Amino acid sequence: KVVVVGSFNVDHVWTTAALPRAGETLSGEYATGPGGKGFNQAVAARRAGADTAFVCALGDDMGGQLARALAAADGIDLRGQRSERSTGTAGVYVDGEGRNSIVIGAGANADLSPAFIASRRDLIAAADVLLAQLESPAEAVLAALRAARASGVITLLNPAPANAVVTAELLSATDILTPNETEFSALLARHVGERIEGDAVAALDQARLHALCRELSPAGTVVVTLGASGCFVSHAEDVRRGDDNAYYRIAAEPVRAIDTTGAGDAFNGALAAAIASAPDAPFAEPIRRAGRYAALSTERQGAAASMPQAADVQARFGP
Ligand code: ADP
Repeated sequence: KVVVVGSFNVDHVWTTAALPRAGETLSGEYATGPGGKGFNQAVAARRAGADTAFVCALGDDMGGQLARALAAADGIDLRGQRSERSTGTAGVYVDGEGRNSIVIGAGANADLSPAFIASRRDLIAAADVLLAQLESPAEAVLAALRAARASGVITLLNPAPANAVVTAELLSATDILTPNETEFSALLARHVGERIEGDAVAALDQARLHALCRELSPAGTVVVTLGASGCFVSHAEDVRRGDDNAYYRIAAEPVRAIDTTGAGDAFNGALAAAIASAPDAPFAEPIRRAGRYAALSTERQGAAASMPQAADVQARFGP
């Protein structure tokens, strides 16, 4: 079982020829749908095959109803804290070249509280893996990680978005940390005192990357996702989970990517599901499963909507 703690947003997306400037009025194609890193990752975990619960905060409005209906449609056990604020939203403009401008209204997501997490302690204790991100208040995420730890549940933290403040307490409550290159760069600046640009990360020597990961999270596993270049795994000596090597790189699956939005969410949800289904397997195995799942998600438009079913992944890549 996977318990995901995180955000739900209603995304509003306008596709325009150019991004709007101050004072400008444009017209464009409009689409709306579910989003939020928490929800995207919960959908990925569920469709990758895990029994999944999603703990979030929702407004008493149409967005909240949408979250409940979509979770039910996917068979996700939704536990929503009721908030006075409106359900989270994201306003997105996308131009003809695929560049975007995004404004997030955290709304209800900002209300997710340690007290609500505490009231779901039994649910968390029954999980194999707890998965969280940082579009929710850090104190609620920390409460969830600590509740999981106290029950021997594996904790997985996707330290996204990159501008979120990742405290030392969050890092030490995390078993598996999964930054992308930008997030890894921000973490190194804050916790290791190293300035390495995000786009320079993939080219770093593996032994050097491993040393940086060890400094960042001495007792945990770090998985740095590198987009089309796959990912890099760094284990602490005592958490190798059957892998012979303390660090290694795993290539991405070759696909025809058309929309990589949500690739990280697909990867994290599928990784949590794969670990939950075989907690004692060598770690490279769930990492490969997550990579296949995320790769397939990039062949479809959208975030939550583009999450493949386990059967689609098998049909494409085999069991
Ligand atoms: P984020 O979406 O958080 O920036 P990444 O871009 O690093 O995350 O993608 C997460 C994972 O998704 C990668 O480690 C890789 O396994 C997979 N992935 C992303 N982009 C591609 C791609 N173009 N082709 C194949 N796999 C991809």
